[in-house]
Amino acid sequence: MPQLRQNIITGDWVVIAPERAKRPADYNISPLPPKMDKSNCPFCEGTKGYKENQKVLRASSEHIYVINNKFPAFVESGKKASVRSYYPEKGFYRAREAIGDHDVIIVKDHETSLPHFSKSLMAEMIEVFCDRYNAMKKEPGVVSIMPIYNHRPEAGASIAHPHAQIFASGIVANTVGKEMSGAERYFGINGACVFCDIIAHELKEKVRVVAKNDDFLSASFYAARFPMETWIYPLDHCSQFEDMHKSNINNLADVLMETIERMSRAIPHLPLNFYIHTLPTTHKSSSSYHWHLEITPRLANYGGYELGSGVIIDIMSPEDAAEYLRKPTKS
Ligand SMILES: [Zn+2]
Ligand SMILES: [Zn+2]
Ligand SMILES: [Zn+2]
Repeated sequence: MPQLRQNIITGDWVVIAPERAKRPADYNISPLPPKMDKSNCPFCEGTKGYKENQKVLRASSEHIYVINNKFPAFVESGKKASVRSYYPEKGFYRAREAIGDHDVIIVKDHETSLPHFSKSLMAEMIEVFCDRYNAMKKEPGVVSIMPIYNHRPEAGASIAHPHAQIFASGIVANTVGKEMSGAERYFGINGACVFCDIIAHELKEKVRVVAKNDDFLSASFYAARFPMETWIYPLDHCSQFEDMHKSNINNLADVLMETIERMSRAIPHLPLNFYIHTLPTTHKSSSSYHWHLEITPRLANYGGYELGSGVIIDIMSPEDAAEYLRKPTKS
C-alpha cells in the first residue's frame, strides 16, 4: 500500500509507492561517452577557453580554480542595487533585475568525476565554497547564496569536465524561504529546532541512517522526493554553513564522499545533484533554521501528476534506500 508522508519542515506531502520499485541492480545506467578531448575542453589548462576563463579568474587553490560564469543567471550590479521590487509590465506583474553573482568552481583534473573525488579534494572544494561565499556575501544586493553540484547530463551538467557552481541572488530561494517559515512555525509550537529534532529522531530510529561522524549525520530523508534522496546535517545546531571550522570541513567532506561513493556503488553511474541550504545573509543567525546539504539522485523524471499537484511519487522507500546504501555491494 502506498503511503503519504509529510515533510515535517515544509508541510509538503509525498507518496512513497515502492510496489513499482526496482532493486538497485535493476537500474541500468550507461556509462558516459568519453569526455571531449582536453584540447577542446573549455575548462582545461592550455586551451583557448581556459585562457578566456583566466581573464575572469576569481580564486585558485592547488586542485581547483574559480571563474565567473560566462552565461550567468545572476549578474553583479556594479553599483549599490535597489532592493525594492518594481513593476515593469503596466503595473501588474512583478519583476526585478537578477542582481547577484554566479561562479564556476572547476576541478583542474579533467579525467576525474565526482564519485572518484578524494576526500581531500572535496574538502578543498568545500573550503573554496566557504571563501567564495564570504566574498559574495559582501556584494551589494546579495541575499542568498547556494553552492551546487550537477553530476552527469541527466542532472543538468552541460560540460563533462568536473565543476561545481555557486549562485548568489537578491532573493531568498523559494525552497529555503519555505523551510525557514516551516522551521519558525515548528519552533513556535515546540520550542526546538526541527532539524535538531530530526537528527535526534533519526539517530534513535537508525533505519534511515547512512553514515555518521563526530560532526555530521547522513540519512535518507523521511519524505524523500527521489530514490535514495539523502540529507547531511551538522550534528550541533548551526544556521550558517560558512561558519564551519577546518575540522568540520574535513568531516563534511568525509561524510559527503562516503555517501556519494555508497550511492554509486549501489547504482553505478548514478546521476545526482547536491546543494547546500543555509540561512540567507539578511539574518545574523537563527535558533530555528539549521543549514544542511541535500543529495538528490536523478533516476526518475517528474510526470504530469508531480508537476500538476506538487506531490511527488517516490518509488523507493527511504528505509530500503538506507539499507541499500549501508550495504552497497548487496542488492
Ligand atoms: Zn577539461
Ligand atoms: Zn538545529
Ligand atoms: Zn533544505
